[in-house]
Amino acid sequence: MRVLVTGGAGFLGSHLCDRLLAEGHTVVAMDNLVTGNTDNIAHLAGNPRFSFVKHDITNYIYLASDLDAILHFASPASPVDYLELPIQTLKVGSLGTHNALGVAKAKKARLLLASTSEVYGDPLVHPQTEEYWGNVNPIGPRGVYDEAKRFAEAITMAYQRYHGVETRIVRIFNTYGPRMRLNDGRVVPNFIKQALNGEPLTVYGAGNQTRSFCYVSDLVDGIYRLLLSDEPLPTNIGNPTEMTILQFAERINALTGNPGGIIYEPLPKDDPQQRRPDITKARRILGWEPQVGLDAGLEETIRYFSTRLDK
Ligand code: UDP
Repeated sequence: MRVLVTGGAGFLGSHLCDRLLAEGHTVVAMDNLVTGNTDNIAHLAGNPRFSFVKHDITNYIYLASDLDAILHFASPASPVDYLELPIQTLKVGSLGTHNALGVAKAKKARLLLASTSEVYGDPLVHPQTEEYWGNVNPIGPRGVYDEAKRFAEAITMAYQRYHGVETRIVRIFNTYGPRMRLNDGRVVPNFIKQALNGEPLTVYGAGNQTRSFCYVSDLVDGIYRLLLSDEPLPTNIGNPTEMTILQFAERINALTGNPGGIIYEPLPKDDPQQRRPDITKARRILGWEPQVGLDAGLEETIRYFSTRLDK
């Protein structure tokens, strides 16, 4: 296949480029480098099946070549990033998704949309199944991301139903691993950076909010399976092992031997209290479930961040 990866220089996009190339496909990565970084794809520079185009997909996308598939991953994805880039976040989820779907329609390519557990908002159903419609505050600080992704799902379904474009939608839950930006503000880079510097970890609120963390190679495998599947409706991909943020902080301090301990800071507005994917559907239709345990994944991630601390 010849595949376009929007957000191809980002954390997930660049890992997807690696996987697609390893499977023998040809990859065009597109990124405006607002939160992506060419460091993430520098190792692919000499590969004849890989090319990079610097482009903001909220503007018309021109590609001369044929395409078989589009992995649409362009978007700020950290709460800190989308608070700083609210208009860009709304534009890439709406205009950017419209443009990506336009390319899919014109090229008769399959499009896989990167959606998010944020479509469930601060969920009232736990764990979250794909049938749950969510509990989102449209005008809160996270609304710029949540509603952009909800719009993206809606327009993707509209292109599927009204234009016959083959589409897939993955709802991605918290994912971590090498190539996350050290300063992206999410809990994994924050805690690991603080731990490696011997500083206290900043737990927001009382730390009793829960998350479940998926290692990037597991996520990429689920997405690749979904791309090749026949499933037209949204599918959760994430790790169902749930823990409180306080437990997570304690785990990171233990793994790094950090003497700095923990300090408490205010909980950001609309921070979801509980989050865990129900992955029954992914197990059934994709034969997928996570393989990498938390400690193994965190050790890889800590190793990566320890080489990047001074950058
Ligand atoms: N969090 C925290 N300390 C930090 C960064 C985040 O306690 O330094 C918490 C945050 O309040 C949230 C959870 O960790 O409850 C996960 O936050 P993240 O920004 O990674 O993403 P989210 O899951 O909220 O989208």
